Amino acid sequence: MNISEIIMRSRNGEPCTREQIIWMLSLPPSSPESYQIMAEARRISQELTPDRAEVHAQFALNLAPCPMNCKFCSFAVINKIFEHSFQLTAEQAVKNALILEAEGASAIFVMSTALYDFGDFLEMGREIKRHLKPETPFIANCGDGTTKEAMQLKDAGFTGVYHALRLREGRDTAIDPAKRIKSINAFKEAGLALGTCVEPVGPEHTSEEIADMILFTGSLQPAYSGLGRRISIPGTEMAQKYGMISELRQAQFLAVTRLGLPRTVIGNCTHEPCTVTAAAGANLFWTEIGANPRDTQEKTEEGRGFTIAKCREFYEEAECGVLDGPSAIYNKGVGESGKASFGISRSS
Ligand code: SF4
Repeated sequence: MNISEIIMRSRNGEPCTREQIIWMLSLPPSSPESYQIMAEARRISQELTPDRAEVHAQFALNLAPCPMNCKFCSFAVINKIFEHSFQLTAEQAVKNALILEAEGASAIFVMSTALYDFGDFLEMGREIKRHLKPETPFIANCGDGTTKEAMQLKDAGFTGVYHALRLREGRDTAIDPAKRIKSINAFKEAGLALGTCVEPVGPEHTSEEIADMILFTGSLQPAYSGLGRRISIPGTEMAQKYGMISELRQAQFLAVTRLGLPRTVIGNCTHEPCTVTAAAGANLFWTEIGANPRDTQEKTEEGRGFTIAKCREFYEEAECGVLDGPSAIYNKGVGESGKASFGISRSS
């Protein structure tokens, strides 16, 4: 295959095939072809969100050992990182949201562990929404849900959701992949904007698995997709067995994801943020406070979490413009309907 030809065809509106995506993922990250892919991904992202990359902010409503046992998560019971629980009060949650909004987050996300009471999630959501500026996109990152629950999220004031079918869902997690897909369909049917991602990528994932997930996320017509690397939780089986991919590999994969997604998907997210991914086409980073499933600290701002200022600095170091104000990705990027089903892929 020839990278210049793939790029030329992509510029002419021809979607990348599964085989092309697999080939691009299989290149060495420091190869000239990988750098060409990263340069093209950056060009596409800068065109889609006119050189205004975004920083969104997330905080957790609770911390609790979670029986869903996703092997990559510090909340998983099996990982034995956190053995106690706590929940924010409504007052604390509103305070967190307002701090992040005042610091310049372009969207506010609230997260909970899978078994957090859904009624409490709605109540907290309504209370936070009441205090946010009306134009600030407000996003739910919660467990799986039914169509009725998705409608309730919408009625509570949420603009959208973050929901992903994780790599090796059902094998590295105790969640049925069909349930994740059903939830994604329910959220979309309720009119919630969908954000998703190919995650959490580790060295054990094959190019074929990643390519299929890139195509799957593109088929959902989300506001954004992207690619996040798995962060090793010290002492866990996954950390010992596999380790992590490098930031350069993350940047290459993220850039391939950008090429593999339809141009209607305007956001290209990655986590955790860094300068090299900004240079390779990331236009959505997250800052986090409070509990974080990739951290062993209860307050991630004292651990792995980056501030909004730090995320902006990553973009600036890569000479990317940064958005001030509410998210354009969420405002423009509400995907159309179209039911999700894994296994849909384009081939040559
Ligand atoms: S990723 Fe979510 S569902 Fe999985 S263990 Fe962590 S909190 Fe639970």
